[in-house]
Amino acid sequence: MQVCGKLYVVATPIGNLKDISFRGLDILKSVHSIAAEDTRHSGSLLKHYSITTPMVSLHSHNEAARTEKIIQWLHQGHDIALISDAGTPLISDPGCYLTQAAHKENIPVVPIPGASALTTALCASGLPVKGFIFEGFLPAKAKARRDQLMALAREPRTLVFYEAPHRIVPMVEDMLAIFGAERVAVIARELTKRFETIKRAPLDELQAWLVADANQQRGEFVVMIEGYQGPTSSGKSYDATEVLTILLKQLPVKQAAQLTADITGEKKNALYKLALSISDKNAQ
Ligand code: SAM
Repeated sequence: MQVCGKLYVVATPIGNLKDISFRGLDILKSVHSIAAEDTRHSGSLLKHYSITTPMVSLHSHNEAARTEKIIQWLHQGHDIALISDAGTPLISDPGCYLTQAAHKENIPVVPIPGASALTTALCASGLPVKGFIFEGFLPAKAKARRDQLMALAREPRTLVFYEAPHRIVPMVEDMLAIFGAERVAVIARELTKRFETIKRAPLDELQAWLVADANQQRGEFVVMIEGYQGPTSSGKSYDATEVLTILLKQLPVKQAAQLTADITGEKKNALYKLALSISDKNAQ
């Protein structure tokens, strides 16, 4: 009987090319093929380490079709490595369909650990990591993003998000409106790269710092927020989202936002946007 091959899920660097394990390199050199999210992008990593293994593309648009071919190779006894553009495959990246298919076929799935922006950011954040919630990317549309943040407002565990540069400012502004000025957050930007920055501050300070410097809005981001710890230390025991939700039952959006700003001390503009989002949701 033909012995099937192994599917290796190999972590690659998130910036600094030295952040790959000896074992990861050995596997990439020895497998039959490497399934890569973007073969051109991964080409630079392979070139850097003089790896000449053939690559096939496997991305969100062709994962199902490509999986069929890869499973065939595995059944023929060939080992295959799965990599993504950066970090650990499947963490906000393709590969779930392929690994599921391999399990269904009793093909061994072997993880080769290494970098991920998630763990790299968390370990430098100074936030509790005993338990945490990884949300990946928030929805691109403002209303859906705010709805998701509102649903997380009372989550006591550390929250972790990925974000793209063109959405980092609106995202942090929404967080300020929904979680409140005093909640501590951390922005981890360009990890392991030349402009690596890890900035930790209460959300009002963090938002002001981000908006004041366009350079801090470039690159790749992980945003982490401390979990809800109950009423704030300043003695303000009002949660902006809750106050707004109650006031919106009786008042127009503008007035509800103004009163919530007076009660909670949060910024009126941000509350106005949040109020629009809540009243849209209530209207549905
Ligand atoms: N699989 C990857 C991992 O293990 O981290 C993540 C892939 S996800 C498509 C890409 C997102 O991860 C980026 O938009 C950014 O939010 C985050 N990211 C990746 N590299 C990063 C870095 N060097 N610094 C900060 N965030 C990074």
